[in-house]
Amino acid sequence: MPVSKQEDALGAYTRKRNFGNTPEPLKNDRVSRTGPNRQFVIQRHHASTLHFDFRLEVDGVLKSWAVPKGPPQAAGIRRLAIKVEDHPLSYAKFEGTIPEGNYGAGKVKIWDHGWYLPEVQGASDKDINSQIRKGSLKFILQGRKLKGKFVLTKFTKGERDQWLLIKRKEDGSDTK
Ligand code: MN
Repeated sequence: MPVSKQEDALGAYTRKRNFGNTPEPLKNDRVSRTGPNRQFVIQRHHASTLHFDFRLEVDGVLKSWAVPKGPPQAAGIRRLAIKVEDHPLSYAKFEGTIPEGNYGAGKVKIWDHGWYLPEVQGASDKDINSQIRKGSLKFILQGRKLKGKFVLTKFTKGERDQWLLIKRKEDGSDTK
């Protein structure tokens, strides 16, 4: 079922790419979730600089952050995460080489994938988008490599959309 809100959520994704020259997926029809689970994926992207792309499914698209040093794997570790354009859901399965001369040229390989749960039980897509807009999203990852509590927290305002991806303590003793 198509989702009417945020029709142009993938406009930036489409504008940055020439789909005659890149194997990346075309903007897909935005779809509603069919089940209770939302997916996440982390892609290792060996572009001009190596980084990891962290993506969370929200409301039919993948909200995306580029994490230069890769996701934190121990509690308390914080990693810079730069928010980038929404990607189509089909990007969660993408692996391959983006040819020279294209946006993000270089190799893309899936590093981890699985499901995530918002910490606020029963949160809707609208709730999650609202938390992202406000600059703080707590969630639990159920991946092959990454598991447990994390938070994305925004620390700049305006055009530079800089966030921290932080692995939290499992006992909840840290507030962030
Ligand atoms: Mn990337």
